[in-house]
Amino acid sequence: MDARRAAVLRVLGVERLERRAGVAGAAGAAGAADAAGAADAAGAAGAADAAGAAGAAGAASAARTRTGAPVALAPPAQAATATLDWEGLASAVAACTRCALHATRTQTVFGVGDRAAEWLVVGEAPGADEDLKGEPFVGRAGQLLNSMLRAIGLARERVYIANVLKCRPPGNRDPTPQETGCCLPYLHRQIALLRPRIILCVGRIAAQNLLGVDTPLARLRGRAHALAPLGTPVVVTYHPAYLLRAPGEKRKAWGDLEFALEVAHGRRA
Ligand code: SF4
Repeated sequence: MDARRAAVLRVLGVERLERRAGVAGAAGAAGAADAAGAADAAGAAGAADAAGAAGAAGAASAARTRTGAPVALAPPAQAATATLDWEGLASAVAACTRCALHATRTQTVFGVGDRAAEWLVVGEAPGADEDLKGEPFVGRAGQLLNSMLRAIGLARERVYIANVLKCRPPGNRDPTPQETGCCLPYLHRQIALLRPRIILCVGRIAAQNLLGVDTPLARLRGRAHALAPLGTPVVVTYHPAYLLRAPGEKRKAWGDLEFALEVAHGRRA
């Protein structure tokens, strides 16, 4: 194990797990995807998959429910955000009452980070800590996300972080299609303003909504999806909150991060 990789695995808390599992060496580039992900990657080598194609065809204007039925984004909402600058967009989100979540939020959670960042991290929705602080990915999951980013040489301040939903669903329940349909235009406008080199999507809900598919997370990992209209590559990995509950999956997450790094540098497509 080389020194850099050993340091990274220590940051992610993987080395100890690997030793315990007796799989030292399995988390390198060759382990960038799990068995399912590797099979997917082989099947999709160098090209956007069907999900990516679907995204290229219309992810900026339509979402799908988790059963695959298309959910039209409200045209007025889409049009109203399409020309906003960062400040106008932030103001629109802060005052938004498009869906019922406005009634239960403490405050909106617009996004945080470098508005010229090359990396955009997209999560699902604010939790209790985020709702109180007005910032995405704070608390333990946020600390783990920071560690994951550091592991690939990125300080939190150097990326931009946003969620699909800008308001917290009560009890941290999954967002409804109606809520994501109302809120996605804000994320689409953030992506248009940022024009990131790569989007790292954390968790099933974020990935399915951003890509407009109902594909399971295991089959979304290990490949680069192309997001319309610019074909921005999207790489999918686990949500840090899930990794806190299932630390045995950190090795796979590290593989996803290595893969994302390769995609960001144009060495993988
Ligand atoms: S979740 Fe999005 S669409 Fe709903 S009220 Fe909040 S900002 Fe508006």
